[in-house]
Amino acid sequence: MAEELKAFIREIPDFPRPGIIFKDIAPLLGDAGAFRKAVDCLAAICEAEDLHPDVCAGPEARGFIFASALAYRLGLGFVPIRKPGKLPHQTSRIDYDLEYGTNAVEMHVDAVKKGQRVLIVDDVLATGGTVAACKQLVEGSGGCVAGALFVVELRSLGGAARLEGVPMFSVLRY
Ligand code: AMP
Repeated sequence: MAEELKAFIREIPDFPRPGIIFKDIAPLLGDAGAFRKAVDCLAAICEAEDLHPDVCAGPEARGFIFASALAYRLGLGFVPIRKPGKLPHQTSRIDYDLEYGTNAVEMHVDAVKKGQRVLIVDDVLATGGTVAACKQLVEGSGGCVAGALFVVELRSLGGAARLEGVPMFSVLRY
């Protein structure tokens, strides 16, 4: 049961700012069975929903963990989406608002090939700003977003509305 994974998500009130309840996935990552189960759940969604991705992309930093593990599990490559100034080659950049502040993401201009089906994977869907920015990067490179997968979805923040037209799935919903 995927719901059992909720026991491995720790809630930290007022982090990193007052009023934010931070979903800390560190206990889930630290437990071999829970981590494997979370990645297996993501893979099962991908297969059941016929998403047929060519590559997995994930935003720094916690998105890297699940996107790369899922890429390995599905036999695909991984595309890193990073904070500004981290990628060494030519990049494209999108600025966006976060649940607690503002941010920007960058991707190498040649990371996604024209027509490639890209699965965007992150740990938490909150306001949807991050995934919407990732979608813009992928589409700006000529790729198509095959789907967006999250371990945790914070439904009250309405992030799914930012993903209109993209198949969106989460393992755990709060
Ligand atoms: P958003 O762009 O608002 O959907 O925020 C998603 C990104 O911020 C993800 O990469 C999460 O890692 C992080 N994040 C936002 N809100 C939370 C939260 N309450 N708990 C844990 N991570 C969060």
